[in-house]
Formats: sequence, C-alpha cells, structure tokens
Amino acid sequence: MSLVASVKDVLFPARCLACDKQLDRYRLPLLCEDCRSRLSPITAPLCLCCGIPFPAGENHLCGDCLSGRWPFDLARAPFLYEEPLVSLIHKWKFGRQLTGLATMAHLSVRSTVISHLATPDLIFPVPLHKRRLQQRGFNQALLFANKCFPDWGDKIIHDGLRRVRATIPQITLTGAERRKNLIGAFSLRQPRLVKGKSVLLIDDVVTTGSTVCECSRVLRHCGAARVEIFTLARAL
Ligand SMILES: [Zn+2]
Ligand SMILES: [Zn+2]
Repeated sequence: MSLVASVKDVLFPARCLACDKQLDRYRLPLLCEDCRSRLSPITAPLCLCCGIPFPAGENHLCGDCLSGRWPFDLARAPFLYEEPLVSLIHKWKFGRQLTGLATMAHLSVRSTVISHLATPDLIFPVPLHKRRLQQRGFNQALLFANKCFPDWGDKIIHDGLRRVRATIPQITLTGAERRKNLIGAFSLRQPRLVKGKSVLLIDDVVTTGSTVCECSRVLRHCGAARVEIFTLARAL
C-alpha cells in the first residue's frame, strides 16, 4: 500500500455503507464482513432464462419461461433485492451516496452469473424520464453500466432508449397496472441501430419485471436479434 493511501486511511477512516462501522482500509467493497455476509447472492441452481434461483437441484427452465412469458432471452442479477441491499440502493438513488454504487458494481462483476451474459453489440441503460433525470441528476442504470462494464464503454448507448412518456411511479401500482402504465412509455432514438444486434439492457433493480419487459418489447419490435437483461438485484 502506498504512503498516501495509508495516511488517507488514518485521516479519513472508511466506514461500512450499511452499518457505519469503521473499516480498516478504504478499499472496495465498503462493507464490513457482517453486512457483506447478509447480502443474498444469486448462485446456481437457477432458471436458465430468467435467472430466478431454485432452492435445490440443477439449472433448468422455470414454469414462466417454459410458457414463454418473457420477451427477453436471458436475465441475470447477482443479488436478491433484500436487506441490506434495499437500503443501500435507496441511499444512492434518493440520498446520492454514489459510493454505494461503486461497491455494488465491484461485487456484481465478481458474481458467477455475469459469465452467463453473451458479449453484446450494444448496451442500453433503462432510461429515466427527462423530468426525473433533472430531479435526480443522474441515471443510476447508466452509472451501474459504466461501473460494471468499463471495457465495453464504447457499446454503452446512454440515450439509445428514451422514456417518452412520464409514468406514475411503479411502486404505487399492482402488476397489471404496472404493465398498462408503461405501454408506449419507451422508444428508440435510432430504431435501425438495433436491427440484428445483441442488446444488453441494464437497470438497478427488477421487481415485477414490467419495465425491462416493456423495453425488451421495443427492442424486439425494432428487430434486435437478442435481448439480455442485467440488473444489480431482483425480487423473488
Ligand atoms: Zn456493516
Ligand atoms: Zn425462468
């Protein structure tokens, strides 16, 4: 370790982002052992398509995927959307503590599920509506994409997908209402760009899947050959 790094550790001790306990060193991930062990990583066995984890057995297709429910080809998330991750995500989304994003990207790229992704031609972060982007000042999906895939930086199209219609916050709606709320909400800036291409869609969290599904439908409609989803977390 360099002298500068050692001095920095003494003067500005790093703290666990989840419980605020002092850490020995300022190194990613900024989580103490306890909080890190409380995360719920998703590992095999899981659904070969949507990535939902199974309690036991081999990897296979789940009932939803067998019935062709999803408009994407593959979805993976390194973690379940449970505490302490729920609070961490809230802190960076609404409290702008973006160090949490660097920590989770650091852990995400070390997850085994990331190796399931095909090498994409294009990467699209799920967009925010212009008004929401102005309020928040950043799109967490774009920041997460940049942090996780620096080697694919030239494939990340930050405004490739646009949210053309402001929608009611999904959190207030039921599953069916969420889907209806999003119809016509997204469009592609250059529809011809995706024709025949493998597209990786990035977001922070998947809960019911309605947002990533609607984006996938738009991509499919414009001729994308393959659509994969990568999110930091997914709900069960
Ligand atoms: Zn902690
Ligand atoms: Zn599935």
